[in-house]
Amino acid sequence: MADQTPETIAHWVGGAHTASTSGRTAPVTNPATGVTTGEVALASVEEVDAAVAAATAAFPGWRDTSLARRSAVLFRFRELLNARKPELAAIITSQHGKVLDDALGEVSRGQEVVEFACGIPHLLKGGFTENASTKVDVHSVRQPLGPVAIISPFNFPAMVPMWFFPVAVAAGNTVVLKPSEKDPSAALWMAQLWKEAGLPDGVFNVVQGDKVAVDRLLEHQDVKSISFVGSTPIARYVYETGTRAGKRVQALGGAKNHMVVLPDADLDLAADAAVNAGFGSAGERCMAVSALVAVGGVGDDLVARIAERTHTLRTGDGTRGADMGPLVTRAHRDKVESYVAAGEEAGAKVVVDGRQVSPDGEADGFWLGPTLLDHVSTGMSVYTDEIFGPVLSVLRVDTYEQALELINTNPYGNGTALFTNDGGAARRFQHEVEVGMIGINVPVPVPMAYYSFGGWKNSLFGDSHAHGTEGVHFFTRGKVVTSRWLDPSHGGLNLGFPQND
Ligand code: NAD
Repeated sequence: MADQTPETIAHWVGGAHTASTSGRTAPVTNPATGVTTGEVALASVEEVDAAVAAATAAFPGWRDTSLARRSAVLFRFRELLNARKPELAAIITSQHGKVLDDALGEVSRGQEVVEFACGIPHLLKGGFTENASTKVDVHSVRQPLGPVAIISPFNFPAMVPMWFFPVAVAAGNTVVLKPSEKDPSAALWMAQLWKEAGLPDGVFNVVQGDKVAVDRLLEHQDVKSISFVGSTPIARYVYETGTRAGKRVQALGGAKNHMVVLPDADLDLAADAAVNAGFGSAGERCMAVSALVAVGGVGDDLVARIAERTHTLRTGDGTRGADMGPLVTRAHRDKVESYVAAGEEAGAKVVVDGRQVSPDGEADGFWLGPTLLDHVSTGMSVYTDEIFGPVLSVLRVDTYEQALELINTNPYGNGTALFTNDGGAARRFQHEVEVGMIGINVPVPVPMAYYSFGGWKNSLFGDSHAHGTEGVHFFTRGKVVTSRWLDPSHGGLNLGFPQND
C-alpha cells in the first residue's frame, strides 16, 4: 500500500473534472493507516474565478428551468444517492476515518435534505391576495440569488455540503462548493452524481483549496452568498469578511455540548447515551457531547456505568467493524492527546485512558481510544476549549440551576441534552437554556431536514440556520407584486403616497 502513487484530486468545473494549474497541493491521508493516498489541489485565485464563471454562466438557464424539471433532477439525484450510498460511505471512511456504519448514517442524513428539497415547488409557493385595494391584487414570489458558495469542514464531507446544496440547487441557484482539504473526494463523487441525474453543466462546481480559495470566494462580486461550516474563529472571520463584501452569510462555528443528568434520570439510558454521543465518530462531531454534567450526587454511579461501557468499545479501522475509528490527522490526534495530559495535570481523574488503546488497525494510524475524565472543573482547558476528539469530561454540580448556569455562561450554544423523567424539569430546561438545538433524553438532537439546523452564540454567525424553511429563505429573495388591470375608475393624477381603498 505504501508504494502506491498518490491519487491527484482536483476540481469539478462546468460538468467535468478539471486539472489544477496552481502548482500547490496538500497531502490526503487514510487516518487508519497513516498512508498518504492522495494529493489535493489547492486552487489559485484564477481557478476559483473559473469555477465562479461556470456557475455564473449556468445561472440564467437554471433559474429559468421550470420547477417541474428542476424537481425531476432532484428526484433522480435522490434515487441515485440512495442506490449508491455505500460507495460514498467508503470514500468518507478512507479519508475521514469514521467507521463505515457512521459514514452511511451521515449520507442518509444528507439524503433527507435532498428529499426535503424535492418538495421545492411547494416550498417556493408565495402568497396571493385578491382585491387588497379596490381591483388591486398583491402576490409574493421568491427567486434564487445567483451563484452561491458553500465552504465545508472535514468532519461531515457529505452531510454538511448536503445541508445546503440540495436546497440551493432546487431553488434555482448555481453552486461552488469548497470542501475541506482533508477529505476532498466525497464532493467530487457527488458532483459526478449530479451529472448522472441530469443537472446541467456548471450548476454544481467543486473547487478544492485552502484560505486562498476561501478568501477569493468571500470577495468575488459574482458570489451572492456564503454558507460556511467550521471552527469558530474561521466562522467569525468568514461572516465579517463576507458581509463586508455585501454578501448574505450563514457561518456555523464550533461547539461545546453539555449533557445534563438529573437525579431522577434512567442512569442506564443516560450512560448509553453519553458513550454514544461522546465517542461516536471519535468525538469529531459538532453535536458530540463533550461535557457531562452530573447533578445532585449521581456522579459516582453514572461514571461507573459509563466506564464499564467504554471498556467494551473497540477502536480500529472503520472498514473492519470497529466501534470507533482514528482521528483525522496525526497532528489532530496529538493535539487531542495533549488536552488529556493537560486535564490530568490540572487535577482531573483519568477514569478510562484512551492513550493506552490497542487498536485493531495499522500501527501508523492516528489512534486515540475513548477517554473518560472525571472531576473536571470549569477552569481546565479540557473544559474551556473545543477538543473535537473522543474525550468525555464529567463535571459535578449540586442543582439544576447550577447546571443551567454552566451552559448559559458558555460561549458556545450549538446543542445540549437533558436526561430526566420529570416533564416539568424538561419543559423548564427547553425554555431557559440558551442553545439552538436541545435533546430531552436524546443525546444528539440533530433536527430533521424539514426543521432548521443551527446553534446560538459563538456556534453560528448570521441569522439563518441550515435547511428547513430557513434554508429556503436563505437561498431565495422575496419580491412582492402589486397589480391592477385597466379600470377607468382608477384613472387620473394623484401625487400622494399610495393608499388603499
Ligand atoms: P476549519 O475551521 O479548520 O475548516 C473549515 C473550512 O474552512 C475548511 O473548508 C477549510 O479549508 C477552511 N479554512 C481553514 N482555515 C481557514 C482560514 N484561515 N481562512 C479561511 N478558510 C479556512 O474546521 P474543520 O477542522 O474542518 O472542522 C471542524 C470544526 O467545524 C469544529 O470546530 C466543529 O465544531 C465545526 N463544525 C461545526 C458544525 C456546526 O454545525 N456548527 C458542523 C460541523 C463542524
